[in-house]
Amino acid sequence: MYIDFHTHAFADAIAERAISKLENTLIESGLDSPPPATRGTVRELAEKLDEWGIDKAVILPIATKPSQQTVINNWAKEIQSDRLCCFGSVHPEAEDALEELERIKSLGLKGVKLHPDYQGFYADEERLFPIYRKCAELGLPVILHAGLDAMSMDCIHCTPQMSARVLEAVPEMTLILAHLGGNFCWNDVEKYLVGKNVYLDTAYIEGNISDEQALRIFRNHGTDKILFASDCPWHPSCRERSLIERLPLTETERENISHKNAERLLGL
Ligand SMILES: [Zn+2]
Repeated sequence: MYIDFHTHAFADAIAERAISKLENTLIESGLDSPPPATRGTVRELAEKLDEWGIDKAVILPIATKPSQQTVINNWAKEIQSDRLCCFGSVHPEAEDALEELERIKSLGLKGVKLHPDYQGFYADEERLFPIYRKCAELGLPVILHAGLDAMSMDCIHCTPQMSARVLEAVPEMTLILAHLGGNFCWNDVEKYLVGKNVYLDTAYIEGNISDEQALRIFRNHGTDKILFASDCPWHPSCRERSLIERLPLTETERENISHKNAERLLGL
């Protein structure tokens, strides 16, 4: 059983535009990335999950403007199903961000995704702490994009050092760091984050990190805090699935990573 903890989809009316725009950003960044695995619709995501043998997925929408958060969270609620779990989104500059977190909870969404690059903040800025604390109080896990991002190649907004400071400041929050703690910052992940009370997802790492380093981080950090994830459509889920399958993990370790940790976090 596989639960992909990090996927993206958009409302049908904007999917093609969103994918084209993000695809161009990726091309301009010079990162070696495959063409997107879907054109961004929920239907196509579900079809691809079937093709790749993925049982469930978590969709992570992001409000890139304060005015978008309500519409996005209503959409997330609408598309949520047994198979597709959804996180909600708040924008740190929205005046009603804390109230919207309460609404996210009451809509039954499973957590909150924050994206420092797309929402214009550094992960350890004080102004984010009320949001982190509110999520902790509501029992909503927080996923942060961590490490390098195609849209901000010269400035990392969530480094492993920043994440370590956040963990110290708000230890009561359930924090998930995407891209194994920091996209292309894995030496610093080993230095500042491994072993700490934080989940790391495997989104977009296959082929970018060496198998040796991935296995070392999984083992040293603890496979009870690693989440199988792909960042679909930016990687097809089958890429990270093949990584989990080829690493010499024990059956228990593989089960933890592929679905058990996700089930616990999602309350399944
Ligand atoms: Zn992503």
